[in-house]
Amino acid sequence: MLKKISFPNRKKEEEKDLYETCVICKSMTNIRKNQHIEERYGYVQAIGQVCYDCYKKIENKPREK
Ligand SMILES: [Zn+2]
Repeated sequence: MLKKISFPNRKKEEEKDLYETCVICKSMTNIRKNQHIEERYGYVQAIGQVCYDCYKKIENKPREK
């Protein structure tokens, strides 16, 4: 279980905590942390959650051997 820390005057911080952060550019994604990995957009195996833009970049990259 995750310990829930609340900031009464910092609602945004709490909201931010609900969403995954892109592992590449560190920006907040619209993927909820409690969302199932299989239902997520931009979840890359062995990398983690990335945002829409970074995911597109990864997908466009030619795959290395
Ligand atoms: Zn990103």
